[in-house]
Amino acid sequence: MSSILIFCRDCGKQVPSSQTKDGLCVDCRVRRSVADLRDEHARLWRKRERYRSQNANTEQIGRQIARVEDRMGQRIRELVSNERQATDLLRKELETARGQRYTIKGV
Ligand SMILES: [Zn+2]
Repeated sequence: MSSILIFCRDCGKQVPSSQTKDGLCVDCRVRRSVADLRDEHARLWRKRERYRSQNANTEQIGRQIARVEDRMGQRIRELVSNERQATDLLRKELETARGQRYTIKGV
């Protein structure tokens, strides 16, 4: 059993070496692995808002969003074997994805 703490080379957080891979903590690995899906999610989310404001049908976009969320969940589960931790991380990624539109809008 090793309990050596190392610094994640991305976020700089101190984490047990057993939870790191390539010098990255699990949070950073998850963030990197779902980055493209998160962008896709943000794009669809904005599109849906736009459609909604025009009273257009958003059903199809809603399904696309759900699919992207499923794929994010799958990728996270590939990295994190602990179901509960995987769910937490997915929720965090989705919160980031859903919040992203505000950041982009403000630019
Ligand atoms: Zn990190």
